[in-house]
Amino acid sequence: MSLEYYLFCRKSFNNIISQLNYMIETYEGIKDYTIDEMCVTEETQTDLFAPDYNINFFIEKKNYTEQLKKVCNEKILKLCKHQFVDDLIDISPEVSKHIRYCTVCEYTDDEFSLTPKKLKYT
Ligand SMILES: [Zn+2]
Repeated sequence: MSLEYYLFCRKSFNNIISQLNYMIETYEGIKDYTIDEMCVTEETQTDLFAPDYNINFFIEKKNYTEQLKKVCNEKILKLCKHQFVDDLIDISPEVSKHIRYCTVCEYTDDEFSLTPKKLKYT
């Protein structure tokens, strides 16, 4: 498989993870409201609209998709002939941070951090 294939898959997995996060947050919102409502109405049916297994279903899919993304990152790391560029990013209006990243796969090089030099994806 080509580098482009893995870059496309990683981008797709990022989209899926984002959507799954939305599903999890939405179910948790229903669950929180249900708990609040139960306190007022003294009902005992806790899991009519947001049972834990619904939330867990999406959490499992998210964890699985993150594993697939990790595999993509490993493949990308092997295939990419990194083309690093240096750049300054603004952390706040007064503070900028120097970063180095690959223009092809967006890998970052943490040489300016306190930890030992290490490549990573952000
Ligand atoms: Zn690269």
